[in-house]
Amino acid sequence: MRGSVKIGTIRGIAIEVNVSWLIIFTLITVMLATSFFPLNYPDWDPTLYWIIGALMAIMLFVSVLLHELSHSLVAIKNGIEVKRITLFIFGGVAQIETEPDEPIKEFKIAIAGPAMSLFLSLFFSALASLATASGASEYLIVPLTYLATVNLVLAIFNLVPAFPLDGGRILRAIIWHYKGNLRLATKIASNMGGFFGYFLMFSGIFIALSGDIVGGVWFIFIGWFINQASQASYQQTMVTDIFKKIKIKEFMTTDVIVVEYHKTLQELVDEYFYVYKFASFPVRRMDEIFGVVSVNDIKSIPRDRWQETLVTEIARPLTDDMEISPDCTVTSSLNKLSKNGLGRILVMEDDKLLGIVSNTDVLNYIRIHSELQ
Ligand SMILES: [Zn+2]
Repeated sequence: MRGSVKIGTIRGIAIEVNVSWLIIFTLITVMLATSFFPLNYPDWDPTLYWIIGALMAIMLFVSVLLHELSHSLVAIKNGIEVKRITLFIFGGVAQIETEPDEPIKEFKIAIAGPAMSLFLSLFFSALASLATASGASEYLIVPLTYLATVNLVLAIFNLVPAFPLDGGRILRAIIWHYKGNLRLATKIASNMGGFFGYFLMFSGIFIALSGDIVGGVWFIFIGWFINQASQASYQQTMVTDIFKKIKIKEFMTTDVIVVEYHKTLQELVDEYFYVYKFASFPVRRMDEIFGVVSVNDIKSIPRDRWQETLVTEIARPLTDDMEISPDCTVTSSLNKLSKNGLGRILVMEDDKLLGIVSNTDVLNYIRIHSELQ
């Protein structure tokens, strides 16, 4: 996420705070210090309103972090990589690398977050009861009670069956498990997400009209965010699902322009790069594909040597990242495309060049497919 600062690493997961989180941190501190505490505990020292308010906001941050960490650790346990957890204005998000391939995994990962929030709520209310029984100060009991409530709200809110909230993921996993159809499950869960988003936005309007402007605007914002996210997540799932099914051979360009190894760089530039406008070309030597030459490889050679340097001298020999088999899926080609940095990938079978797939081919396919949907 843009504008995020890494504050640490837990079990290989980078923990980041986004600048937008400072807005919610300030809002919560100000709300507690200027309205909630003074109204409920008028005899406290005013500086304590601010200190306890800020501490509460930090503890809320820790609670959200533990919720996300719980999702992440269960994901890792199920063989799914988690790069980072980012805390931002609407809470936290764990960047889980791939969607789970089985409903049972998705169910476990999704339920882990609310389970942690519920546990924290019970933990803090137990501490609060203990503090009350031992006659501890109000300055300790009030924050503990507050944390118990906040974590309970976190658990319940996230369990609403509206994708991409955890409850929506749980609902999707259940439908997916019983109907065996990820597409249908995602559609139902994200429609619920869309409805819930509108519901929050309309509630926000009523709340604002009844006098609580800040609270109302907040509901409208969260509703809008969930509504948008439900549609985006749906499209992303569909694209991933389609790409898992489409094979490279249905997708590749078959009329590939190949450069002979004995051409000079000057010929390569004049007859290939300027004519066909591709960023790289496969190179053939003795009827066999030897490697790839890209525009970046030429840049490193001084212009006055282009007449005497041969393509074979600068071409990069084929590596695993540059080629793919025609029966692979589009998803695997995307991984290789991002690694090789050539913008293209050769489709090879038994050392024969069958076709080529470029970044632009993939992007165009996504565009056309989403327009036809
Ligand atoms: Zn969650």
